Amino acid sequence: MWMVEGLEFLPRRLDFSSAGLGQHTTTAVMADGVQLVNALDLVDDGDPLQLIVCEHCGTIACQSGNWVSLRRLQAGLVFMPAFEEMARGSQERLECAPPYFTETKGIPWIQGSALTALAARTPFLADLARWPELTVREAALILQWESPRGFLTRFPDPPGLLPDTSAVVTHGENRATIAAATCFGSIAVCRGGGWEGAARARQLRL
Ligand SMILES: [Zn+2]
Repeated sequence: MWMVEGLEFLPRRLDFSSAGLGQHTTTAVMADGVQLVNALDLVDDGDPLQLIVCEHCGTIACQSGNWVSLRRLQAGLVFMPAFEEMARGSQERLECAPPYFTETKGIPWIQGSALTALAARTPFLADLARWPELTVREAALILQWESPRGFLTRFPDPPGLLPDTSAVVTHGENRATIAAATCFGSIAVCRGGGWEGAARARQLRL
C-alpha cells in the first residue's frame, strides 16, 4: 500500500471549449508528487468514483479508467481499484480500471493531516463513517494487486499463490493485512517475527 505522506493542491484551468463549455477553473490534487485528482470539484461521492475526468469536457465516465472505490481503514481512506465492478467482465475491467499509479506507486492510503486537508476541500470525505470498512477479501485483493509479478495469481483470478510457489510474510501493525494474508492458504503468518520465524515456517512448508 502507498501510504501517502503529503498532498498538494494546485490551481488548474481546463479547456472545455471543444465541448462548448469554455474554460473551467479547478484544483488538481498531487499526492507525493503524483496526480491523484485532476479536477477536485468534479469528483462525485459515488462508489466507485472517477479521480481523473476527461480533460476535454469534464464529464464523468466520458473517458474510461481512473476509477477507485473508497474504503475506510483505521483512521484513513484507501483508494482501491473498483474490484467489484471489474470482476463483472473484461469490458468492465477496461472501463473501470484504476489509475496507473496503482501499478507504479501502489494503492493510496491517505490518513492524518493529508486526509484532513483533502476532507476540508471535499466535504463528502469528511465523514469517514459513511465509507465502508475495508473487508478482509478486499485486503486480499489489494495484496494480490500489489504483489510482484510471478508470485501471486493476477486479478480477476481468485487471490492465491501460483503453483509451485511458497511464501512467508511477517506480521505488521494492520490486523486486516494479517487476516488477508491468512486467506492465502499457503502463506504463513510468523508472529514470532523476523527471519527466524520465516525460516521456521519455510521448514514446516506451511
Ligand atoms: Zn469528454
